[in-house]
Amino acid sequence: MKYDIVIIGGGTAGYVAGSILARKGKKVLVAEKEKFGGVCVNFGCVPSIFLFDATFLLNRFKEIVYYIGLDGEIEYKDLLFSKRNEIIDYLSNAGRKLIEDSGGETELGEVEIISPSTVKVNGRIVEFDNLIIATGSKPMVPSINGIENTLSEDDAVNLNSVPSSMVIIGGGYAGVEIAQMYSRLGSQVTLLSRSKILPTFPEDARSIIKDSLEFDGVNIEENIRIVKIHDGKVITEKGEVEGNVIVYATGRRPQLPKGIEILGLSINECGIVVDKYRRVKNNVYAIGDVIDKERKTAHSAILDAVIASLHILKDATFLPLIDNLKIPQVLYTDPQVGIVGNDKEAKEFSVFPFAATTRAIINGFKDGYVKLGINERNEIVFGEVIGDKAEELINILTLVVNNRIRIESLALMSFVHPSFSEAIVNAAKGFFDLDVDKYKSKDGKT
Ligand SMILES: Cc1cc2nc3c(=O)[nH]c(=O)nc-3n(C[C@H](O)[C@H](O)[C@H](O)COP(=O)(O)OP(=O)(O)OC[C@H]3O[C@@H](n4cnc5c(N)ncnc54)[C@H](O)[C@@H]3O)c2cc1C
Repeated sequence: MKYDIVIIGGGTAGYVAGSILARKGKKVLVAEKEKFGGVCVNFGCVPSIFLFDATFLLNRFKEIVYYIGLDGEIEYKDLLFSKRNEIIDYLSNAGRKLIEDSGGETELGEVEIISPSTVKVNGRIVEFDNLIIATGSKPMVPSINGIENTLSEDDAVNLNSVPSSMVIIGGGYAGVEIAQMYSRLGSQVTLLSRSKILPTFPEDARSIIKDSLEFDGVNIEENIRIVKIHDGKVITEKGEVEGNVIVYATGRRPQLPKGIEILGLSINECGIVVDKYRRVKNNVYAIGDVIDKERKTAHSAILDAVIASLHILKDATFLPLIDNLKIPQVLYTDPQVGIVGNDKEAKEFSVFPFAATTRAIINGFKDGYVKLGINERNEIVFGEVIGDKAEELINILTLVVNNRIRIESLALMSFVHPSFSEAIVNAAKGFFDLDVDKYKSKDGKT
């Protein structure tokens, strides 16, 4: 059997590319070895954001109970975890169905590359004109003595009960998110980081998140070296910490299909090296977490899938527009953090706090701010949002930064009042001293 395109991996990148190419009339096969939906649906975004939402609502509910003077304890049941599993199953099936409804074929089975134009799946030989490698990533296992009796970040978001105590090794995105959610669910959490937590974050965002975690009861140990893990204890050079469950969240490594060496690709420890069209060579493409890129997220995997598909389709409309697209990043903590663009490119910044934003005052979520950075041509090159709704507001800033909108234009926009996104326009007005909702005394002090 011959296909126009064979896609190895039915995760986020694979299902998007498969669905696009099938819709456009190509004969497509998407083969998945484990579960359609990949990490995002089964072990990543979906379970972790479900638990984030649950703990966020739980906390807000506790506050409301306190403010209106109700009495009593809140007790949650295992229903929480069964609901999470239900959503995962629904989305995993949906991913496969989207490909099939678009006219593509799917198959459950591990793919092996057996020649430059053929793969093998479930014992059958399949020929292809184009190959897309979308095999994702796996948790990186740190080389610590005793690590074999611990859980990965993928396992941690799929626990079926709340452990009484948890030690998390790794202070990046995943470690920080897992720490806050389990702490809020009642676990005694210790977060161990070999540097400061969230080392790639701007200092202001980092320190707000650190305070928030500590407020939630997370014990954070930064700049710490782990000696070994033994008998449920993490032994560090500064002492030992005991955890009912020990989790490592120490980064990811590419997951490569068997036989990949036959293709003679350029691969480093971060992944497969691709050009701007996500092409590796001739008719071979790689997309998503398996490629060599700095930030491995589901939305960047989607962009990879779109670009590779358009290149295979020889599209002339979108391909000229793909250079220098800025991809946002979001940390799903409370408060959330959203960042887009490069603060090093900015020569001037303006910050507008939610505490001066009417909608946030009504709603009670006054923590955080919107920060904008502009270059010497007054183009907005950086956006940062800390606070509730950052995941939505950062999308507006992604539009702004990618289109290099000038700060005067944004400052003149009429955004709905009252709304959280008004803080964006007010941050723009801040460059011109027009941000009148932000307190400023007659002597100019804010
Ligand atoms: C805890 C956690 C939370 C996360 N939260 C977010 C978030 O909030 N937002 C966000 O944007 N990103 C998040 N991510 C990252 C996101 O999950 C990944 O970036 C995304 O899943 C990458 O998609 P992908 O398709 O490249 O790879 P994957 O989702 O890993 O899919 C690859 C698929 O290929 C299959 N495969 C591998 N080898 C073969 C083979 N030989 N034959 C057949 N099939 C094969 C695998 O089984 C897998 O299903 C999170 C990740 C984790 C771990």
